[in-house]
Amino acid sequence: MDTSWERIRYDEPRERVARITLARPEAANAQDYQMLSELNEAFDVAAQDDSIRVIVLAADGKHFSSGHDLRDHNPDMSEMATVGTQCHFDADGAEGYMAREAEMYLGLCWRWRNIAKPTIASVQGKVIAGGLMLVWPMDLIVASEDATFSDPVVALGVNGTEYFSHAYEAGARLAKDMLFTGRAVSAAEAKQHGMVNRVVPRHDLEQETLDLASHIAKRPMFGLTTAKQSVNNSVDAMGLYTALQSAFGLHHVGHSHNRLTYDGSFVDPAGIQVIRDEA
Ligand code: ZN
Repeated sequence: MDTSWERIRYDEPRERVARITLARPEAANAQDYQMLSELNEAFDVAAQDDSIRVIVLAADGKHFSSGHDLRDHNPDMSEMATVGTQCHFDADGAEGYMAREAEMYLGLCWRWRNIAKPTIASVQGKVIAGGLMLVWPMDLIVASEDATFSDPVVALGVNGTEYFSHAYEAGARLAKDMLFTGRAVSAAEAKQHGMVNRVVPRHDLEQETLDLASHIAKRPMFGLTTAKQSVNNSVDAMGLYTALQSAFGLHHVGHSHNRLTYDGSFVDPAGIQVIRDEA
């Protein structure tokens, strides 16, 4: 595998701990398809490395991630190393666009959520929309005090981000509040609702995350793997997978509605200004 990644970095800062770092701070770690592809390759490297027991996902710069890079709207899928079973990426109508988002957004997130090793997100600054899709699939979340979480894309005429686990992560009330208002939830409020595990001062974020990773990494791999699988099975029994698929379908009704209504645009163009004005 070619590991000359441009959008991310990979290191092993502690024994048995791999760290993947979003390294596009000049764009607030906006996720284009290249970044998502590189992330997936790095997760695979860490998952397949028998010396690694815990994987940390961190980010360079002031903000963890501003979400999907909307300039990267129509990438050439033939250049992507796809790992799912989607096809017809270039098809007209809803077909191609839905297949691309199923592969690159929902599919990759679900794949990372099920990695057979504990994963920890280390989060600072803004986490917006698609940014949540990197944080929520991780097992544990350590947030710095300045971290905020928002999904403002209802203003764009869709239900929310493509990995729609909002009610499972934040509870139904806060999920609706976040979606209806588009407001940013602070790290403290997120912790109150069980969305994050720990809130730490910004200058302690790296140390606290790595200490937690090292603590976990002392435990045997199979114990960790089966513990993770058991909790995931419990959440799946509460319907997570079905809820994700259902919301993804509605998400694409939203994209298709917008295309029909707004001259081919997948989002309501007026929403971009609404989000900017409230940022
Ligand atoms: Zn979408």
